[in-house]
Amino acid sequence: MEKELVNVAKKSSLERYCPLPEGYEKGTTKYLIVTGSVISGIGKGTLTSCLCKLFANRGMNVEPMKIEAYLNVDAGTLNPYRHGEVFVLADGTETDMDLGSYERFLDKDLSGENFLTSGKIYRTIIEKERKGLYLGRDVQFIPHVTGETKYFVRELAVRKKPDIVIVEIGGTVGDYENLFAIEAMRELKYEEGSNNVCILNMTYIIEPPHLGEHKTKAAQLGLRRLQELGITPDVVVCRSHTPISKRIKEKISVNANIPLENIFNVPDFGTIYRLPRILHLQGLDEKILQHFGIAEKFRPNTEKLLEWENTVLPKENAKDVKIAIAGKYIGVKDAYVSIINALEHCEAPLNVHIKLGWIDVQAIEEGKLSVEECSKYAGIIVPGGFGARGVEGKIKVAEYCRKHNIPYLGLCLGFQIAVIEFARNVCMLEDANSTEFEPSCRNPVIDLLPEQKRVDSFGATMRLGAKEVYLKPGTRTFEIHGRANKIVRRFRHRYEFNIEYKELFESKGLVFSGHDESGRIMQILELPTHKFYFATQYHAEFTSRPLKPDPFFLNFVKAAASD
Ligand code: GLN
Repeated sequence: MEKELVNVAKKSSLERYCPLPEGYEKGTTKYLIVTGSVISGIGKGTLTSCLCKLFANRGMNVEPMKIEAYLNVDAGTLNPYRHGEVFVLADGTETDMDLGSYERFLDKDLSGENFLTSGKIYRTIIEKERKGLYLGRDVQFIPHVTGETKYFVRELAVRKKPDIVIVEIGGTVGDYENLFAIEAMRELKYEEGSNNVCILNMTYIIEPPHLGEHKTKAAQLGLRRLQELGITPDVVVCRSHTPISKRIKEKISVNANIPLENIFNVPDFGTIYRLPRILHLQGLDEKILQHFGIAEKFRPNTEKLLEWENTVLPKENAKDVKIAIAGKYIGVKDAYVSIINALEHCEAPLNVHIKLGWIDVQAIEEGKLSVEECSKYAGIIVPGGFGARGVEGKIKVAEYCRKHNIPYLGLCLGFQIAVIEFARNVCMLEDANSTEFEPSCRNPVIDLLPEQKRVDSFGATMRLGAKEVYLKPGTRTFEIHGRANKIVRRFRHRYEFNIEYKELFESKGLVFSGHDESGRIMQILELPTHKFYFATQYHAEFTSRPLKPDPFFLNFVKAAASD
């Protein structure tokens, strides 16, 4: 790579900057580019995930990539209120929540190479510029930012050798921020050839209530904007509230030069698990593969698709189970999307229908809501989180669940909450807390490990990514996990249970049923006499998949559903 760059730099009069990863062969990988227009929030990530599923169903090796326009290098510091949950990959990369959706639909682990931000691109460019690798050239938005973007995309193709790379570009057409990615994909199509790159635009057909009919103008303008950038999409997917008519598709077709049969429609629908087959029946995957000329090579397995859908969804007669998430981002579904998905994965195997509710822990903390609110639910999840806001409310929720035999599942911070609650109310350490919330607390039952304290001062941050968890034989945890000695789960935290208190806790009946390899970091706790009281220092929700629910989620919902 560096050698090639120096060569490029030597020919500094060259207008193009298009380094190719070593071993790259044009034409071996197909690229599907997913863009959005009109508005965001219409399910571009879900559509991309469904396409992953549809191509995988045809036996293709699929690699998705999300390109985010923001300047953050990764999603680690983003606020879930604004951007939805931070999803963690096995290799520790902190990503956009769409990566979680891709993993769940593909049922495979992705890595940092599947996630690109403009921050990551700019960092690469500035590092190279300082090393003198662009010697003689003025480093420009075009061709360098677009050149590096294409390099990342092609690198994924070389490394993972997929049949298809699906690139989802965050944001919508018309944003300044994602222009680099759209321009890079225009160049990619030119360089790779039309039959190797397919550009899909997901647009929105508005239906103003006072008119009661569909209007295409906004979608037309969105597509026109893409054309101004030199791209006429090959395929258009129209999102709408109600199904659109052929006439509406025709309007889009004649206004944007797109063949009628390349225009698809996704009206609002109940569950995302039906969407892959809905799209398949409309012929979307077939159309895209025809564009690439490989529709005959990779045939769909429609029966398998139907079987997947039927196995993933609960039956009509499913029993309702009321579960609440006791968090601080109340009602912001995107902030807890993996938890919601992990709950959904339990619906079919247990034939239940989860009725999700929210408990506002801040309101409990401030005395505006009674903790009795918990009694309305058959099970309560205390999710992960950072910072002191809402913590005292969560502790009250944990206490209520423990005392009233309400199934409790604590995830990450929810583990630490269970520890603090137990310390205060069972071990009678009234001033127990985490040093995250009270740095000079007298009974720091949750604290940084000594070695972490040292590392921390050098700016290293969290324990991130997939790690081994050793299960303790003889515990309920061990049974729930099919008597496995070891499982692998994903972490994202900085604080730990303070091992000095272990004996005291155990003498009061709490069992630490999972720990790290050294035996010093406690990762799972359980209360053996409770209906279901478990908490994990890891995020059990990140690795739950359709047809493979996480055992803790499954047994939590099972306990909640039992009388
Ligand atoms: N704030 C806690 C910690 O850093 C928990 C983190 C989390 O819930 N993801 O350890």
